[in-house]
Amino acid sequence: MAVTNNAMLIRRDLITRMIRLLMEDQLVEKIDRIPLEMRPRNNPSVRCCIHKDRAVLKYKLMGLLGFNIHDETDELTPLSEYASMAIDRTNLTDVVLTVVDEACSSCRKTSYMVSNLCRGCVARPCMVNCPKNAISFVDGQAKIDHAACVNCGQCMKVCPFHAIVYLPVPCEEACPVGAICKNENGVESIDISKCINCGKCLSACPFGAVVEKSSLVDIFKSKHEKKTLVALLAPAIAGQFGVDLGRIINGFKLIGFQYVYEVAHGAETTARLEAEELEERLSSGGKFITTSCCPAYTSLVDKHIDTLKPYVSHTKTPMYYSAEQVRAQHPNACIVFVSPCPAKRWEVFHNPNVDYALSFEEYGAWLVAAKIDLNSIEPAVIENIPAAEARGFAASGGVSLAVKRVTDNSNIIDLQINGIDKAAIRQLKSFPKNPTANLVEVMTCEGGCIGGCNVISNPKIAAKQLQIAVDSAPAIAQQVS
Ligand code: SF4
Ligand code: SF4
Repeated sequence: MAVTNNAMLIRRDLITRMIRLLMEDQLVEKIDRIPLEMRPRNNPSVRCCIHKDRAVLKYKLMGLLGFNIHDETDELTPLSEYASMAIDRTNLTDVVLTVVDEACSSCRKTSYMVSNLCRGCVARPCMVNCPKNAISFVDGQAKIDHAACVNCGQCMKVCPFHAIVYLPVPCEEACPVGAICKNENGVESIDISKCINCGKCLSACPFGAVVEKSSLVDIFKSKHEKKTLVALLAPAIAGQFGVDLGRIINGFKLIGFQYVYEVAHGAETTARLEAEELEERLSSGGKFITTSCCPAYTSLVDKHIDTLKPYVSHTKTPMYYSAEQVRAQHPNACIVFVSPCPAKRWEVFHNPNVDYALSFEEYGAWLVAAKIDLNSIEPAVIENIPAAEARGFAASGGVSLAVKRVTDNSNIIDLQINGIDKAAIRQLKSFPKNPTANLVEVMTCEGGCIGGCNVISNPKIAAKQLQIAVDSAPAIAQQVS
């Protein structure tokens, strides 16, 4: 989600302020002041009053401290108490997204509305074409009976004045699997049994009500305990911040990470093993495989598309192979995966070789808090450059290209599912009956991980910046058969 909006700016401001306190070791002492400083008395409020604004900021900070909003048992518990609990905790739960009830505006149920552009025309195609007779005319204006309306949208399509508008619930509309919906209080809540952690609701909510839980406190705790900090960089980071990868890596060194590794090295292993698996499956009569490196996609199959389970590659993600290697080198270090999305944060919880996730957005906020401008620092020298195709995993088409490059099998026909929405899910469900390719690359985010919901840069600009990193790397070597 790179398009800047105010909800995003507020979130980044909160993260930056929290990191400043963590850097000063003043979190417990000063966190209660953040909502007051951001919404001082006598300043204009965004919601009905500054007290509501402050309450919303408090709950968002609770998420950033790593708590579910619904963990709250007493509204009077101050943030300082949650901060103390966060510092003392030894583990986090794998629920990565939480909805702030106070922030959710309880958007009215998805519906069609007649606007004041209605001219009460003679043709009245809206009324004539409504299959449920839900439209009547009152005082010369069309009126929709919402009890009868089935939201088919026919009236909107036929109105010659475009007088009928569609009012979606943005988070519900964005969720590809129907995992977010209104609870008994009319506010949105996420059904964990359906959620695939794609983060589309987080990007879509115009009130910033969906919050990604953070591990910042835990990372700083390791830093204060003088543990070795190791950053594993998802390939998509090469497209962020508008600077070369060397400067991004040096930025990590300057904020306190002793070692920084590109997960693209793990992507090379993923490409090789996926190519081997594809060849094996095809030679034993299999029809196709789908890639497995996007955890939101593998969760989609696990939770929603049983028929696709036999076709998902068993090869692990690039993070898995990188973390395995890095853990062997640094057994006692705090290993942090730097991530483009909540789905990867969820994957981190399930990988014993990675301790925490840090989002691209959090890294950006950390740089701001530390007053580091990546444009004005020296680039780190990258000694061990991964293959170009492995860096290219970050963009749609990159995984299938890498798999094809490492094999000499000319029978591979690839297809990219570039972004998961309801139409893509229908396409995936029907694929086993009528496969049109034998290598199906699936990325939940449009554009691939450079379109993940935690990115900083516009995905089109990120794609160009990523290409610079790809072009400066050697070609992947072919598999020796
Ligand atoms: S993270 Fe994705 S799957 Fe989960 S509720 Fe949000 S949009 Fe739906
Ligand atoms: S495509 Fe990439 S960024 Fe998007 S959910 Fe999958 S792993 Fe995350």
